Amino acid sequence: MSEKPVFSIVVPLYNEEEVIGESYRRLKEVMDGMGDTYELVFVNDGSRDKTAALAREICEKDTNVKFINFARNFGHQTAITAGMDYSSGDAVVVIDADLQDPPEVIPEMAKKWREGYDVVYGKRIQRKGETFFKKITAKLFYRFLRRMTDVDVPTDTGDFRLIDRKVCNALKKVTERNRYIRGIVAWLGFKSCPVEFVREKRFAGETKYPLKKMIKFASDAIMSFSYKPLKIATFMGFFVSLASFIYLIVMVILKLCGAMETVPGWTSLLVVTLFFNGIILLVLGIIGEYIGRIYDEAKGRPLYIVSDTVNLDPETKGRV
Ligand code: UDP
Ligand code: MG
Repeated sequence: MSEKPVFSIVVPLYNEEEVIGESYRRLKEVMDGMGDTYELVFVNDGSRDKTAALAREICEKDTNVKFINFARNFGHQTAITAGMDYSSGDAVVVIDADLQDPPEVIPEMAKKWREGYDVVYGKRIQRKGETFFKKITAKLFYRFLRRMTDVDVPTDTGDFRLIDRKVCNALKKVTERNRYIRGIVAWLGFKSCPVEFVREKRFAGETKYPLKKMIKFASDAIMSFSYKPLKIATFMGFFVSLASFIYLIVMVILKLCGAMETVPGWTSLLVVTLFFNGIILLVLGIIGEYIGRIYDEAKGRPLYIVSDTVNLDPETKGRV
């Protein structure tokens, strides 16, 4: 059992009782077909359905399947992190459980890896079976992120990717919370290339990324890699000072020309007050988002808590 496999396949699971069986079957079929040694690393991210029990059943029959059970839901990006931490393969593939990322693309990724690429990321050329809202927000998000950050995160790529052991080891050194893994991988560098694929419809069940999680994910992505939101305050301050200075000059000229009538300015006063209060709260909110993240780092809590594991060597440690 302590022999290191060539491939580790990391699968995060959150309430995936409807898909875990089929996902295992498809992954096993593809990996057996490749002929190299492998392990499947299932991470249960605090599911409230039968996911954990089903994963344990699979582990009992197949010791190639390793299982990490979180104490609660820590989120998709954290689940992937744990899977990578516990994996031991020479190459690590991260794939969603819902079969939206087709396992059949893995051999293609492996081929590129053998050609010498350290990161082979899946690029979605088409998304099937997703709502118009999801597609448009995703498209806008990837483009907006590119403008907001200096890190070159490839557009339209998710976490479905293959990384070399050395990239995985480098990732372990990155301890930040509120993680945006694709950004961190891009930040690390390494030789990378895309493999194009069509993102399929979810095999069964609902998306585990409701709007709230999508917003959290997007703000983590932007705030981990950009100070630009903070610069909004500087920009607004500058713009408002300039505008009021011009206004002042105009008023003085009008007064000197005797063209100004003093009128009671209730409405304009109210508008200006509300407008500036709005800006102040917005900017405070942005600063607060960053401070919250600094606070998370300062507390230095572990990234995740593992309740128990199955089929893992006692020496295999996650993050310590
Ligand atoms: N997931 C997770 N924790 C969460 C949310 C999602 O581990 O809090 C897993 C989920 O089980 C799936 C993957 O992350 O394997 C992607 O989630 P999903 O397919 O729901 O996202 P979408 O494809 O709709 O963006
Ligand atoms: Mg999905």
